[in-house]
Amino acid sequence: MEAFDCLQEAIYLVSPSDSVVLDCNLAACHELKRQRADLVGHSLYALREDEYDSAHWQALMDSVRQQPALTQNSWYLRENDQAYPTEEILKMVDWNGQESLLISVRDITPRAAASANMGNRESLLAFVLNEATDGMWEWDVKRDQVFYSMPLKRMLGYGPYEIEHNLFTWKDSIHPEDSARVMQELDAYLHGRHDRYDLEYRLGKRAGGYVWIHDRGHVSERDASGKAQRVVGMVRNIHSRKLMEEQLIRMATRDELTGLLNRRSGYVAFDQQLQLALREQQALSIALFDLDAFKMINDTYGHQVGDRALSMAAGLMSSRIRRSDILMRWGGEEFLLVMPDTDHQGARGLAEEIRSTLQETPFRTAGCDLRLTLSAGLASFPQDGKSTSQLVHYADNALYAAKEKGRNRVEG
Ligand code: GH3
Ligand code: MG
Ligand code: MG
Repeated sequence: MEAFDCLQEAIYLVSPSDSVVLDCNLAACHELKRQRADLVGHSLYALREDEYDSAHWQALMDSVRQQPALTQNSWYLRENDQAYPTEEILKMVDWNGQESLLISVRDITPRAAASANMGNRESLLAFVLNEATDGMWEWDVKRDQVFYSMPLKRMLGYGPYEIEHNLFTWKDSIHPEDSARVMQELDAYLHGRHDRYDLEYRLGKRAGGYVWIHDRGHVSERDASGKAQRVVGMVRNIHSRKLMEEQLIRMATRDELTGLLNRRSGYVAFDQQLQLALREQQALSIALFDLDAFKMINDTYGHQVGDRALSMAAGLMSSRIRRSDILMRWGGEEFLLVMPDTDHQGARGLAEEIRSTLQETPFRTAGCDLRLTLSAGLASFPQDGKSTSQLVHYADNALYAAKEKGRNRVEG
């Protein structure tokens, strides 16, 4: 979570089963004027004004599961029990193999203050059109004119008079990978196949690059035949949340040091490949690699050099394997390579190639060339085992034999 301390939005990771806060970022502590230790381990509902019972909470969790992200307004409590209005986005994510609820919370006190002053609609309008952080648009369908509010232009990096007010400007700036999906959604909504237009996609910025936005719109005027005449919408910048989601996914599946799949997500992929081999009656082999005398490298050159040597070995292995192979960090200085559709002989060939390449590739550090070697144990489906654990067990024994026989060799 420290990785998200630089974000301005308050972020919480919450257990969906009992609403307990698993972690939060610095912005959350600042918002609530509480210490992290006062937040983590407590029910989220101690921090909010809403009165929820557990059935209510579970119903909310179910509805979050059914959509990419749920946006709602709620009141949070500061340390002194002073409540303030927020807009929160709830989303289910995979956090170290556990389904977790990711909440990003934004203080909307200024917006709420403007709405409270509804008697003075002009000031509300001025706020929404010029100062709010969310952008607004209004599309006059018949005339093909689109009004873009100033905050929306700002979000995309445009000045007041730089955007042409038609639909093409918008269509043209949608990220090519998102464009077809956005057009389908809009069409489905306008023709009544979907009951709302509410989606996340990327819009191009004036200076290049894209910003992730959450766009919600609804028809505000129809003609006698029911055809949409005017559509209004609201756009929220969700870029930092999207980046964070991507980072969360990377962190949950990748090993930080080497960038390889971590053991948990690699094992899932291994299991899938083995199921496939069983179904298709194909061969599958694995190789368990262990760097030789690695403790000595750490002891001689220090842990940091050891870390770099590990990354280098991982990079070298990755560069030798095929697209269909799965390489994961099994733990410490051990790596597991899964080779689908590969028999024992093929596996031995690849493992030998990796072994000899590593031996021949010096690792340069602090002015000297360091030589790394590895030992490997092989196991092939079906003859050496029919489950992932049997295969790993077999390969582990073979690896042990390789170490016994003097290291820098492939056994099994
Ligand atoms: P062997 O040839 O029998 O495998 O000898 P070894 O020294 O490699 O075996 P051992 O299992 O005794 O030691 C493994 C070492 O790898 C010990 C541990 O400190 C080091 N190691 C494990 N993970 C990391 C890491 O992430 N970074 C660094 N620098 N070292 C690590
Ligand atoms: Mg080891
Ligand atoms: Mg070792």
